[in-house]
Amino acid sequence: MNPLLHPFKTKHTTAPFSKIKNEHFKPAFKEAISRAKAEVDAIIENPEPPSFENTIVALEFYGDTLDRISSVFFNLNSAETNDEIQKIAKEISPWLSEFSNDIRLNKKLFKRVKSLYENRKSLGLTSEQQTLLEKKYKGFARNGANLNDKGKKTLRELDKKLSKLSLQFGENVLAETNAYELHIANENQLKGLPESAKEAAQMLAKQKGKQGWIFTLDYPSYVPFMTYIDDRGLREKLAKAFGARAFNNNKNDNQQIVLDITKFRHKRAQLLGYQTHAHFVLEERMAETPEKVLSFENTLLQKAKPAAEKEFKQLATLAAKDGVIQFQKWDGAYYAEKLKKQLFDLDQEKLKPYFKLENVIDGVFTVANKLYGLLFKEVNDIDVYHKDVKTYEVTHTNGNFMAVLYADFFPRKGKRNGAWMTSYKGQWKKENSNSRPHISIVCNFTKPTETKPSLLTFNEVTTLFHEFGHALHGMLANTIYPSLSGTSVYWDFVELPSQLLENWCYEKEVLDLFANHYETGEPIPMKLVQKIKDAANFLEGMQTLRQLSFGLLDMAWHAGESPEAIKDVKAFETEVFANTQLYPDVAENCMSTAFSHIFQGGYSSGYYSYKWAEVLDADAFEHFKETGIFNKETAAKFVENVLSKGGTEKPMVLYKRFRGKEPNTDALLKRAGLLK
Ligand SMILES: [Zn+2]
Repeated sequence: MNPLLHPFKTKHTTAPFSKIKNEHFKPAFKEAISRAKAEVDAIIENPEPPSFENTIVALEFYGDTLDRISSVFFNLNSAETNDEIQKIAKEISPWLSEFSNDIRLNKKLFKRVKSLYENRKSLGLTSEQQTLLEKKYKGFARNGANLNDKGKKTLRELDKKLSKLSLQFGENVLAETNAYELHIANENQLKGLPESAKEAAQMLAKQKGKQGWIFTLDYPSYVPFMTYIDDRGLREKLAKAFGARAFNNNKNDNQQIVLDITKFRHKRAQLLGYQTHAHFVLEERMAETPEKVLSFENTLLQKAKPAAEKEFKQLATLAAKDGVIQFQKWDGAYYAEKLKKQLFDLDQEKLKPYFKLENVIDGVFTVANKLYGLLFKEVNDIDVYHKDVKTYEVTHTNGNFMAVLYADFFPRKGKRNGAWMTSYKGQWKKENSNSRPHISIVCNFTKPTETKPSLLTFNEVTTLFHEFGHALHGMLANTIYPSLSGTSVYWDFVELPSQLLENWCYEKEVLDLFANHYETGEPIPMKLVQKIKDAANFLEGMQTLRQLSFGLLDMAWHAGESPEAIKDVKAFETEVFANTQLYPDVAENCMSTAFSHIFQGGYSSGYYSYKWAEVLDADAFEHFKETGIFNKETAAKFVENVLSKGGTEKPMVLYKRFRGKEPNTDALLKRAGLLK
């Protein structure tokens, strides 16, 4: 019997991990796809005229077996993978994309959806139903369903070219990164570098069969080098190599690829009826239009620039004492570190004893209880995929069962880096029952040893609060349709719950709840808390300006009316940067040719969203500050209008209902110390 092919008959219908074997996945996927296909065929061939129920709702709920299997499989592939699982992933991915293409390209199905969409005003739908209908329709239309056959063919050709170019872009950056190494034989040249970075460089040399130390353009090697190495000439050398990636006029050069990608994206957007690629992307974002993004970025720029210039001068003055006449890019991180030491001298090791993992978990649970009335009970009768995974039953003080929470905290082989929130089962309502979600948070925190418990850095503490904020979005979800539930929101809105919760970590009232020394029980000294707060704003002006320069470059490439007129990548970029650059330009360097976020990954026309999310969380937290950080009414409004609502309405509508007005940048500028 294949356990994946039957509804899970476990406690809360959680996944029966101990019964699932790798050999179950492929046959289960095959069977689940054929079941899903039959369900979709039944929708298409339904002799009844299309209705919201028989078409849109049916499309929302088909394929429950496939959903169940996919959640288990792809979550395991991130948190507990091995060669076998990765091999299966490669085999089944084409099956899944073929199946979804078949649906997306089905003309008869689109006709049913479109007829409903065109009559949407007269169907008597609730706002959630309207959102669902629009989402289903756009899923087809944004992929070309409205085009004639010739248009469809052109679109497919453009998509093919674009995916090839993005892939090539990424391969070139990788090849250029890998092709470079800085080999140092004389230890004297490593002055300033911490022991751990030295050891890593020595190990790298050893791996390559060489003596001495090797540094590369990979962040774990590059960043400590630029931050600590005293030898300015060496910093310049490595920085220039980094900045020249895919800009060396060799076979890995990305200049033509950048021009081609922007040109084809523009063509694609126009074919689908949009003014530019940015207009196409932003249609499904809270920010809505390029004009709004640009005005947002320029407002921040005005406020951040004077602060950034002041900070720049401060760093340059410090460098001048070492005889540096012209402060350059390769001096930035180095003197920033020096200044930080002078100003704060914040030793992470001194903080860690106050952040024992178990205490921090209690802390975040207490915060969730005080704000939202949630209760967490650790249980041992829910099956897990690894013995380190903890499980909790989450209930509301009103007695309702809310969710199952999995927590998987420590690194191990088979788990990818970083921290994330995910779910094994979504939330929805059907036939008068509210199907509650199975949420998981996965992190890579410092492991306990035989003599010491797991002690977190402050950075890890905010990471836990961040992921837990996403988890709240999932656990408090209360919508009818699963594709609109929880974190299924526009992606410039999805970081609001997570980043918002981080704010509680900086409050004395909150730290007093859990930040006690793991040996003595002594509460964390207020002096340390203030230092944490001050250090968080260090060089905020320069950081902001840097983020804005990337965001503006992204918009310049994607919101322009005639990308085919751009001929020179470097010249174009220099002009865009004119208003945001503090350092002198380095002629042999180029940002765009290695800007993987927007040319390889999915961030095109989306880079602004980092700052956007900060503005949102600062503005929302200000509301809590005004009313009290544990104010029950404010918290209830946040649940009612944001956390429970998922993507059922436009984010700006939801946000305004919570806040009473649109977000503005003042709260962020105030928090960052940029508004004086
Ligand atoms: Zn996040």
